[in-house]
Amino acid sequence: MSKETPKLLIIGWDGATFDVIDPLLARGELPHLAGLIARGVRGRLRSTVPPSSAVAWPTFATGRDPAGHGVFGFYQTETTSYQRRLVSSRDVHAPCLWDWLGAAGLRAGVVNVPVTYPPRPMHGFLVSGMLTPSPQETFTYPAELGPQLLARQPAFPIESQVMHAVHGARSRGELAQIITAWTDAFHANVCHLLAGQDWDCFVVVYRATDIVQHGLGLPQPGASDGDEVQQTYRQIDACLGALLARVPADTNVVLVSDHGAGPAHGRFMANNWLYQRGYLRLRRGAGLLSKLPAWRRVPLQRALHRLRLGALARRLPSALSTWPAPAPRKRHAHDLIDWRRTRVFIPTTGVQGLPLRLNLAGREPLGCVRPDGEAQTLLTELARELEALRAPDGQPLLTVVWQVEGDANRLLSNRGPDLLALPREACYYSIGAKLDLSRPLLAGPARRAPGQHRLEGVLVAAGPAIAPGLRLEGARLVDVAPTALHLLGLPTPAEMDGRVLAEALRPEWLASHPPRVEAWSMEGSAGAAGSAYDAADAARVEGALRALGYLE
Ligand SMILES: [Zn+2]
Repeated sequence: MSKETPKLLIIGWDGATFDVIDPLLARGELPHLAGLIARGVRGRLRSTVPPSSAVAWPTFATGRDPAGHGVFGFYQTETTSYQRRLVSSRDVHAPCLWDWLGAAGLRAGVVNVPVTYPPRPMHGFLVSGMLTPSPQETFTYPAELGPQLLARQPAFPIESQVMHAVHGARSRGELAQIITAWTDAFHANVCHLLAGQDWDCFVVVYRATDIVQHGLGLPQPGASDGDEVQQTYRQIDACLGALLARVPADTNVVLVSDHGAGPAHGRFMANNWLYQRGYLRLRRGAGLLSKLPAWRRVPLQRALHRLRLGALARRLPSALSTWPAPAPRKRHAHDLIDWRRTRVFIPTTGVQGLPLRLNLAGREPLGCVRPDGEAQTLLTELARELEALRAPDGQPLLTVVWQVEGDANRLLSNRGPDLLALPREACYYSIGAKLDLSRPLLAGPARRAPGQHRLEGVLVAAGPAIAPGLRLEGARLVDVAPTALHLLGLPTPAEMDGRVLAEALRPEWLASHPPRVEAWSMEGSAGAAGSAYDAADAARVEGALRALGYLE
């Protein structure tokens, strides 16, 4: 980096939306964000499809669409076994912004970006984000940084611990209090790293916004000063002010959210639909289990306690006391499916969209759909049937946004979904992947997730390279990484799907820094293949995701 190239600070506000921000700006309640907007640009930032945190943050990090980095949701289905496993940094098959910076000799600091666990070696330092199982695991690079952070802030919990606490919250106020305290502890460490470490580019993601919006929904119009979601925005605006006070005045600053947010009106039980339409078939006997409503599956012992018959429960033979208790995981459709007769399945879970994959002969282990004409006919039929579904307001429930086109070879080599549908935003039904035939196709919203994601996120930027006073149109999350490299004086690697947001830059900056694309190659993911989690770690992370409606 030449001496004149300013440093770059990138701040993520997960799930932040102008729908919450603008009323607060109008009342003068986000002074630091207002300051950035006044001297820079603002605009909506288009998320990934689907707008899931697990998909969007890897796109932010790599400048690649999901097909380019390989993460399509919180889970991957193993191509050899149909086993589902949680994604991790090992599944991100493209170099990240900080890898490109390191190759150019620039130091990066990366804090709390989702899907960076387990940390990969890089030039600089990294604290892994969402999907980190516990502080007992190595969650930093270099490894010795983690214990140092924990020693400074013993109450510095990993997000999965916080989510468990949030799950137990008995009121809106208690939930907000847990998140506020966590954000304070987190922010203290961020300030410590920002001031104490050497960096050219510092990236930090605040997750509080997304967590409160999931757990509490969006503020009602005219919400009072005590509204907990608005309080969270005020808190992270104060954090933003503290960060700005700690960096050189000529730092370029970019603030993004990975997606927006809005109310959830209910859930579309997608696996129930696949089953009812005959696309998905169940193993013998599994149908009966999936037809039992959830309350009937409460173990007998717990049921007796609920009926104040604890004494009787204690005298039950142990084999009987836990009956019928299928393990919760067993209720996921993957465990009940008859793969020899199933034509279509959901390959990953993400409540923000409906990905479908054909059980394709020659690609899946027990594939039964022929990759020639039969596959294309099936995709067309699926798209037609999905678009014919109606929400209670009479309008379409879903829009099919993407499907594989081309010949059989294209299908056979496809790693992601073969078809993807998104909920209509105005009457948003999240996707329920649980197979629970006791529920109607359109179920109520998940109790703990009154809020869900939207495609339009937030972009604000200011600094010596950024044009003042502009409103941007058409910016996408995938454009952030190429723009960040450009702001640090580097070309866009040809493999990136995004572009430099030149319209956000000052003409005089552009004259001296013309954007350029270069065939610049680097090895992809350096991590080992396969899962990064043992069973206990996976259970910890999954429980945390489920606690706030990220998973069913
Ligand atoms: Zn997110």
